[in-house]
Amino acid sequence: MRKLLDLLFPPRCVFCGKIVPPDEPRQTCRDCINTVPRTFGPVRGDDPVLAAAPFMYAGGVRRAVHRLKFRGKTSYAKPLALYMATEAIRSFPNLPDVVVWAPVSAGRLRQRGYDQSRLLAEETAALLGLPLADALEKTRETPPQSTLTDKTERRRNARGAYVCRDPEAVRGKSVLLIDDVRTSGATLHECAVALTAAGAETVYGLTLAAAGK
Ligand SMILES: [Zn+2]
Repeated sequence: MRKLLDLLFPPRCVFCGKIVPPDEPRQTCRDCINTVPRTFGPVRGDDPVLAAAPFMYAGGVRRAVHRLKFRGKTSYAKPLALYMATEAIRSFPNLPDVVVWAPVSAGRLRQRGYDQSRLLAEETAALLGLPLADALEKTRETPPQSTLTDKTERRRNARGAYVCRDPEAVRGKSVLLIDDVRTSGATLHECAVALTAAGAETVYGLTLAAAGK
């Protein structure tokens, strides 16, 4: 069945759309393997979290995020999470205890039908052999961070937007916080504040892509 499906709908490169062999777990073509914009190690910036991302938010990576997020390409989560899990092992000093994600609001979830960050978190947790906790809640809708140009505005936009609804899951633990794109770090920051207030010991931020630096 799987083989027939591969024939009818061959898997395509998540970054450029070219057909790739069905046994390529990263679903990435040979050109993109070498050309997708990679990052170099984790960043701390002024966040309380050590943040890492395998990619810069540009070119084919932007395409992949757009398709995962707005075009229903939920099947992209698995190959993309392979890059994220590898990045986590490379960038963080220890493997965390539990994986959580920066959720969309309940309204956005109803509208979209799925939460792309949750999908990335599920796949990354499975690859790393870590438990996943539905620990955060976005309590209000905020304009997308990408629509705001100023860092202060982004901080204000995200402030207080997340609460930890399952403190038991994170108390005393090292938490791997997953989101799709890191813009200014304001979302990771706000989620980390909520997790730390609930007793999390360390928070590592991992996104698929990082915008600008
Ligand atoms: Zn490609």
